[in-house]
Amino acid sequence: MLSRRCRRTQRCVRPEGLLGSGDASRMVTHDVGYALTARAKYCLYLDGDHPVYVTSAHWLRGVERVSSPNEDARPDAGAIELVVLHGISLPPGQFGTGMVRELFCNELDCSRSSELADLEGVFVSAHALVERDGRITQFVPFNRRAWHAGQSSFRGRSRCNDFAIGIELEGTDVQPYAAEQYAALSEILLALFRRYPRLDPSVVVGHCDIAPGRKTDPGPAFDWPRLLASLDA
Ligand SMILES: [Zn+2]
Repeated sequence: MLSRRCRRTQRCVRPEGLLGSGDASRMVTHDVGYALTARAKYCLYLDGDHPVYVTSAHWLRGVERVSSPNEDARPDAGAIELVVLHGISLPPGQFGTGMVRELFCNELDCSRSSELADLEGVFVSAHALVERDGRITQFVPFNRRAWHAGQSSFRGRSRCNDFAIGIELEGTDVQPYAAEQYAALSEILLALFRRYPRLDPSVVVGHCDIAPGRKTDPGPAFDWPRLLASLDA
């Protein structure tokens, strides 16, 4: 398959067949070596002709890895049957602070803001974080249990962390999520569907769906039809 090279990094980007020529001509690049088209389509073809995929060690190939200590073994390592989408921002409503990463790595100084006080002694993580610009970071390999859902229930099964993959989107319940985030999320989900046979769009839910009354994220600002349409393409 033909591929294009990012003009700045000279790394291969999305195969030409998947982009209209007009999009390719408007491609812009970013420091970390990924490319956005004018349609803000996140590109994960970082250094070859291969799309993003899940490696044999259960990491997404081509995205940054930052290990979180807040994980452990799944009771059944083969039971990956649910994807839970979350929204998070720290301090609430602020983006790009780096504090979500710090939280997941137990490095957040909760004394920096009164809005962080509730997070003192909280040990949480997610498998992946998608920031506002579409940047993806993975914290926990998918075959391990990340600590993201808390008390929860899906179709009569409790303890969703046991069998779920958790993906955090940097955002709030009420502020529209970014186009780059939808594009990146879609790429992640399609890679997960290819890798884990029990996953498909019908088992992608919000935290609000498995912990109603306790959690509201990713909130009414999250455009589910838009996400689902992108998974259909
Ligand atoms: Zn959540």
